Amino acid sequence: MRLYNTLIRKKEEFFHSKDIKVGMYTCGPTVYWFSHVGNFRSYILSDVLKRVLVYNGFKVNHIINVTDVGHLTSDSDEGEDKMEKAASKEGKSVGSVANFYLNAFKQEFSKLNLVGPSKWVKATEHIDEQINLIKDLEKKGFTYVINDGVYFDTSKFKNYGKLSKKKIGGLKGGKRIDLGEKKNKTDFALWKFSGNKKRLQEWDSPWGVGFPGWHIECSAMSTKYLGKQFDIHTGGDDLVPIHHENEIAQSECGYGKSPWVKYWVHGAFLILPKGKMSKSSGKIKTISELEEDGIDPLSYKYFTYSAHYRKPLTWSPEALEAAVNGFKRLKNIIPNLLDDGKINKKYLKKFEERINDDLDMPGSISILWELVRDKKAIGKIGTIRKMDEIFGLRLLEKEELKIPEEIKKIAEDRAKARTKKDWKKSDELRENLKKKEWNIIDSGKDYILEKF
Ligand code: AMP
Ligand code: ZN
Repeated sequence: MRLYNTLIRKKEEFFHSKDIKVGMYTCGPTVYWFSHVGNFRSYILSDVLKRVLVYNGFKVNHIINVTDVGHLTSDSDEGEDKMEKAASKEGKSVGSVANFYLNAFKQEFSKLNLVGPSKWVKATEHIDEQINLIKDLEKKGFTYVINDGVYFDTSKFKNYGKLSKKKIGGLKGGKRIDLGEKKNKTDFALWKFSGNKKRLQEWDSPWGVGFPGWHIECSAMSTKYLGKQFDIHTGGDDLVPIHHENEIAQSECGYGKSPWVKYWVHGAFLILPKGKMSKSSGKIKTISELEEDGIDPLSYKYFTYSAHYRKPLTWSPEALEAAVNGFKRLKNIIPNLLDDGKINKKYLKKFEERINDDLDMPGSISILWELVRDKKAIGKIGTIRKMDEIFGLRLLEKEELKIPEEIKKIAEDRAKARTKKDWKKSDELRENLKKKEWNIIDSGKDYILEKF
């Protein structure tokens, strides 16, 4: 199995023992608002990756974090805490806002048939672990304190920038940009003081009352559950230059082991034809909103498979509609295929080559279509069942068709006409159904209704 590793900007073989669990960490949602379809593109990626690992015989310990403190409205350690802002606006406690959006997130997660992690971990439930890591960094001389918090001195970590390939660590304070009291542009907050701001949630610490920075939670929690070095870290590719770079700096300096993570897997964004898709813009849909519009969440998942995960995918109603129709066609064809109890080795091999080549989902979907369309192929159903272990599209589950009363009545009248051997009337009624876009298939005395 080959994976593209952002750390080396190349595809490489994934090596791991099958007896020991693969440790995998995914940067999860900041639960101040609903996650949108773009966010879910990133979780679909980690889901496919986990499914491919399991398919290949690996056992996986997967952790997804839940950010309920410290994620500020600006990446430069300024601005408001997104959670505090939402709680004040909604007039609720941070905890109840977090629980509400986490619940909504988990529901949408399962609507997409994503396999849940081994554990969901909340930042506010791991404050001690975060403080302990900051203490270790302080002992080793990587931190300094200024008026608004405790900061990581990136100029002390010679490998700073190794993930984003930018030599940004050494930029000195006061030279070209306004750094405030920060020593280097790239330095970041480990702990922020509440100061005279009234906060809804804050904690005591050796440096003063306040709250952890956003990056430290991922270092502290991943290490608690996966060890000081682990295998795979995933997230959207916007996280590379700051969040993940900072996670590496804290962890490699604090725990003293390098590389902290072996394989970094990043997904490209779901984008709008004009510009970025963001939660705060409020313009973009959630999975539940798609469902309200009559779109099966799984057809959105199918849509994301139309582009390789490292390529941006453009969101448009037309592109989505094409995927929705493609998925419907697939779901209509599959129940009519013969289940001969066999596996088609030729197609399965081609499919396995695609998934094991850096999770090539567009390639895998075209193999699925080739198999479905191949009139001579054996073992279609058995092979599709194997393929769906990766797609997670519930390809073999039959939809509960909602048949309108009017259609049911015509079908019943036709059945009566058939019992009376009134073939003329029966044909007329079949034509009538066709006009209304319903197909009727006779099966002995019974019949099946299908929507075109
Ligand atoms: P957030 O809830 O904003 O912390 O983001 C959660 C995850 O969604 C992160 O891995 C982000 O990189 C990812 N993400 C945010 N926007 C998009 C998008 N438009 N397309 C794909 N992934 C995204
Ligand atoms: Zn993270």
